[in-house]
Amino acid sequence: MIEFDRKQLMASVKRVVVKVGSSTLSRNSELSSERLDHLTYDLTKLKQRGTEVVLVTSGAILAGGRQLGFNQRPGTIPELQASAAVGQIQLMQAYQSRLQQYGQIPAMALLTQEDFTSRQRYVHISDTLLTLLRLGAIPIINENDTVTVDEIKVGDNDTLAAYVTNLIDAYLLIILSDQKGFYTADPRTDIDAKLINVVSKIDDTIRVLAGKSSTDEGTGGMITKLLAAEIVTGSGGLMVLADGSEKNILNRILDGEAIGSLFLPQKRISSRHRWIAYSRPPKGQVFVDEGAHHALLNHGGSLLPCGVREITGDFEFGDTISCRDQNDKEFARGLVNYNTQEAQRIIGKNTHEIEQVLGYHHYDEIIHRDNLVLIS
Ligand code: GLU
Repeated sequence: MIEFDRKQLMASVKRVVVKVGSSTLSRNSELSSERLDHLTYDLTKLKQRGTEVVLVTSGAILAGGRQLGFNQRPGTIPELQASAAVGQIQLMQAYQSRLQQYGQIPAMALLTQEDFTSRQRYVHISDTLLTLLRLGAIPIINENDTVTVDEIKVGDNDTLAAYVTNLIDAYLLIILSDQKGFYTADPRTDIDAKLINVVSKIDDTIRVLAGKSSTDEGTGGMITKLLAAEIVTGSGGLMVLADGSEKNILNRILDGEAIGSLFLPQKRISSRHRWIAYSRPPKGQVFVDEGAHHALLNHGGSLLPCGVREITGDFEFGDTISCRDQNDKEFARGLVNYNTQEAQRIIGKNTHEIEQVLGYHHYDEIIHRDNLVLIS
């Protein structure tokens, strides 16, 4: 176990992203006034201690579905999208009325995967959110469910919150859930399940523990929470998973109280590297040979066609793809210089053969070093 001072660690947090799920915000499948009161009070206290705060909130589909007469989560995509359109207003009203009472200014941003995939949109949104923070507002973010379809969706708000944490360079993501944290087993079905207080590194043992779990109200389970932790800690940030029904939970976490599960950071990486590796799902995979693996890992090399054994997926120039070693283990991600068809034709070839095979030679590398991020 790594030794660290929790109070000191939390004292260095100047900017935090808080994610709250539908099940935490609701009671009996309706938005709960009491829960919203506690959350907005806690957020305000956080602001008052000088911490910049961004909230990522679910609950639109739940709130809208009720208004439109659904007794449970609607079954079709258009019904879900319609529910989000109605519920988003109610959700924001609920936040606005409360936060304004405390003298806070809420701001709304509805985002989708495209906003993270496109570098240009990414940079613009980051500028907007940072400006809102500088001006003292509390940005409140949800996925733009009314217009997004599966292909262009982030899909769950745990991942969205992790993307936002990276986007605004926040050091801490707090995910408020209906469980006390990350357990050794599902605590709802296994009485021996134990809370893990600190996860110093996410490895396969931890991944297996995430298992499958989901609630009726939301889309996330432990798997998406762990994925969020991988994104944030892989970028060099902290994540805490804690029980959203506990009072003053946010301020207690920032005070350094040992509460929930804390995921410790790996090496800090640059903003551009965070975008390449952790803001867009890889569109394909390259399986490299031992020599290439070694050169990328130890000698700061680029990935050349001759070091690639096999590729899978469907990618275009500039997409993020994943690099896998001889054991099929992912060890890097990077921006690819050729599309799938081109890459298929040049793998295994020497650089001077590229022109012969393709009829042109735009790049020497499949992935240039500057666009490659090693995953620890
Ligand atoms: N964006 C959805 C909503 O507002 C929820 C997605 C999620 O919970 O992950 O209802």
